[in-house]
Amino acid sequence: MHQKFTRKELYELRNFIPINDLIQELKIPFKFSEGYFRFLCPICKEFQTATKTETNLARCFRCERNFNTIDLVLICQHFTFVDAVRFLQNLYSKVQKQSYRQTELKGLLKHMTKAF
Ligand SMILES: [Zn+2]
Repeated sequence: MHQKFTRKELYELRNFIPINDLIQELKIPFKFSEGYFRFLCPICKEFQTATKTETNLARCFRCERNFNTIDLVLICQHFTFVDAVRFLQNLYSKVQKQSYRQTELKGLLKHMTKAF
């Protein structure tokens, strides 16, 4: 198999795009119940799910399987692997810009609170 993407790139796409953000981006229905973020499982169409921020995985307890970011894009968008990775690369650059802005804002807030 011809490998177009490096291990590091794929690792970043699996780990550094928050899985909850991806679920929203893919327009997968989700809700909060009992303090958990639950998404509609794309396989069984049930909400017996949760996401784990430490591992950045989405899990369906009914299907007994975990989904990483690449799995979710493959299943929901019916993309090829290459297209799924490209989709995530675009999203990753958006996420990076957002978190940069958030860090900037936090710094600004800290600065403002100090001034009072
Ligand atoms: Zn399921």
